[in-house]
Amino acid sequence: MGKVHTRTIKLKLIVSTEDKNVAWKRIRQISNDAWRAANWIASGQLFNDQLVRRIYARRKINPREDSEAVEQIEKEFEAFFGTKRQATTEWDIKEAFPDLPPYVTNPLNHVVVASYKKEKPDMLSGNRSLRTYKRGMPIQTAKAAINFSKNETGQHFVKWTLGRKEFIDFEIYYGQDRANNRLTIDRIINGQIDYSAPMIQLKDKNLFLLLPVKEPEIAADLDPDIALGVDLGVATPAYMALSKGPARRAVGDKEDFLKVRLQMQSRKRRLQRSIKSAHGGKGRQKKLKALNQIGEKERQFARTYNHYISREIVNFAIRHNAGTIKLEMLEGFGQEEQQAFVLRNWSYFELQTFIEYKAKKVGIKILKIDPYRTSQTCSSCGHFEEGQRKDQSTFECKNCGEKLHADYNAALNIARSKKIVTKKEQCEYYLNRNQNTI
Ligand SMILES: [Zn+2]
Repeated sequence: MGKVHTRTIKLKLIVSTEDKNVAWKRIRQISNDAWRAANWIASGQLFNDQLVRRIYARRKINPREDSEAVEQIEKEFEAFFGTKRQATTEWDIKEAFPDLPPYVTNPLNHVVVASYKKEKPDMLSGNRSLRTYKRGMPIQTAKAAINFSKNETGQHFVKWTLGRKEFIDFEIYYGQDRANNRLTIDRIINGQIDYSAPMIQLKDKNLFLLLPVKEPEIAADLDPDIALGVDLGVATPAYMALSKGPARRAVGDKEDFLKVRLQMQSRKRRLQRSIKSAHGGKGRQKKLKALNQIGEKERQFARTYNHYISREIVNFAIRHNAGTIKLEMLEGFGQEEQQAFVLRNWSYFELQTFIEYKAKKVGIKILKIDPYRTSQTCSSCGHFEEGQRKDQSTFECKNCGEKLHADYNAALNIARSKKIVTKKEQCEYYLNRNQNTI
């Protein structure tokens, strides 16, 4: 399958089993047992570790030096509890929560033990306490317990196997399906893509399936007639829309920059303060060097961030079979936006370069379009008039009354634009800019 990346999708489930009340009662009971069982597992694992540590201390064993003694204690542990350390808690919860199906207890134990192990060093050194699991946490289930199917009319169903003869059936409800999850499930049913460790979540009387989907990073069946329009902006770094269908997505957030910038600034201030109070010597030199490195770190952050955004854009295109990505012909920094501090940290040009590079690698074509009027034209009726983009986030058409997210409207116009250009001089946008028309 080549390189894959995992992304978790969220699907709304409607119980379709004949006796809905029985099904709901069972789901509630499992959901109610699962989080308590998770806490049981976590504290049981901690108990095991503390017990073994106590034995080390009692027998004066240094576990780092005496591997033979460690092995001996593990053997004694296994003989006493009848199982290895990891599995003790699985036995415990089967005992304590007999109604939890094994298709839940096994993966639950697996996942909780895994995150316990990751946090264990910090826990044993006293830097953090035991993780607690709360009511409403997603219910882990086994991959084999979830089966997808499709009927003649194209409806998608999920069968959740709880035991040898116990199942609950659901229909998947897609709603507007902006993420185009229907296509993803079709690909799973057709065996084109795979998934792992599914979870069922009961939240505010709604049921969801959380599904980590493994998608190939190489495009399978790109359609050059499907274009992905990308609007690059300040409030939202990138907003994507398809030329066909409702799929759309925003990537990134202005806040991401704010947060990092504030962090860097306070680090700078701290360093500057301590440099003032230091009296020369090696320490001072070190601090000066660290101060110089902060600028480099800021640039590094912007670069990493551009890599992230461009990767999300290309993955989105692949996921929706878009064979073309359309971008506005930009010259780097927009004049009116130059003031915005975000742009001091973030270069559109670098982002465009990254998108082009990543798209080319998977066979997606990049087209540049004339940015002329993309944000002031209605994507619904084509009407242009200034002032339709009311603010950073709303577009309202003065002709047909259509109200849309402003970035979405612009991204749609970009996706459908036929004004393909190869250089700035061909753009009405730049020719007209002197006359103050956007
Ligand atoms: Zn309109």
